[in-house]
Amino acid sequence: MFDTVIVGAGPAGMTAALYAARSNLKVALIERGIPGGQMNNTSDIENYPGYANISGPDLAEKMFEPLENLGVEHLFGQVERIEDLGVTKKIVTDDGEYEAKTVVIATGSNHRSLNVPGEEELNSRGVSYCAVCDGAFFRDEDLLVVGGGDSAVEEAVFLTQFAKTVTIAHRRDQLRAQKVLQDRAFANDKIHFAWNTVVEEIKGEQKVTSVLLKDVKTGEVREQAFGGVFIYVGLDPVSDFATELGILDENGWVITDDHMRTTVPGIFAVGDVRQKDLRQVTTAVGDGAIAGQEVYKYITENF
Ligand code: FAD
Ligand code: NAP
Repeated sequence: MFDTVIVGAGPAGMTAALYAARSNLKVALIERGIPGGQMNNTSDIENYPGYANISGPDLAEKMFEPLENLGVEHLFGQVERIEDLGVTKKIVTDDGEYEAKTVVIATGSNHRSLNVPGEEELNSRGVSYCAVCDGAFFRDEDLLVVGGGDSAVEEAVFLTQFAKTVTIAHRRDQLRAQKVLQDRAFANDKIHFAWNTVVEEIKGEQKVTSVLLKDVKTGEVREQAFGGVFIYVGLDPVSDFATELGILDENGWVITDDHMRTTVPGIFAVGDVRQKDLRQVTTAVGDGAIAGQEVYKYITENF
């Protein structure tokens, strides 16, 4: 029996584990991949206080390192279901079952797909969702980045160190990304913009060779040669396993109050998976700290 099982070892889950463990609780942290979550997919984090610039994987390692010494049990597995047994909770993974007094859901979000022809077929053969993972395979190529948010613009700039050119195709004529990232992209000679443009199809046999782009204002469709397509069109919550708990909004984000409590007593949620306005590392760790403290309070009051 754990005091708390935290599902997901991104910055939110790791911080919840840190705070819960420092309150002397028996903590398990279940992760299906490597600790760090989405931080592992970005090369430069420039807005985490205390570091002018740190690579995502480095920050992930620094957050994970102290947990072992604090006695946090790191379990590998994919959580498939959480059951509210009333007083305690059952956590069902692909590798076994655990029981805990509380659960903290910290499963973050997943990249969204464009759902256009060619995207799935050419995935990993020119279609990518991770510039940090795949960028170096695209030296001297003309690349397309799809999206207008922080991820698209930041990763487009990152890709210019390998690519010949990077075209950002955005469905509107104004970027959503933070101003500082926009300015960096506008100042980069290798970056071009295709405004009011959406992808109709990604083409290629063995690998991506071209993309059909549609101008949403004129309806005109043109084919342009690209060696790779990086897709950054937003995120969807990772919360399927929690559907039956009745704690999700209509889009699958977990609803919590300011104490990170869901409507099920003893079940908390933190980080990107929550219904919230700002999804960042800083807000994820803030949520985690609150939840760690709230779990301690809940156990003190209820057990
Ligand atoms: P995540 O980091 O998504 O972690 C969730 C974890 O849960 C993952 O490790 C996942 O494997 C695990 N998990 C999911 N489901 C299960 C399951 N069923 N069972 C077990 N484990 C599970 N933010 C910044 O502040 N600065 C930046 O520069 C920045 N750059 C970014 C660049 C990119 C390309 C992206 C995509 C995001 C960036 N962000 C940045 C956002 C930031 O990474 C996220 O806000 C943050 O990682 C959210 O943390 P989290 O712990 O809530 O979720
Ligand atoms: P996002 O902010 O949701 O942006 C998604 C972009 O894709 C938007 O520009 C959107 O267009 C576009 N889009 C959505 N669906 C589309 C479709 N079907 N076809 C074409 N375009 C589509 O997602 P994100 O950029 O991945 O960022 C996710 C979160 O991580 C955000 O909270 C962000 O702040 C954070 N993040 C932070 C940093 C940083 O701080 N440096 C870096 C990366 C990410 P519209 O603009 O028209 O809606």
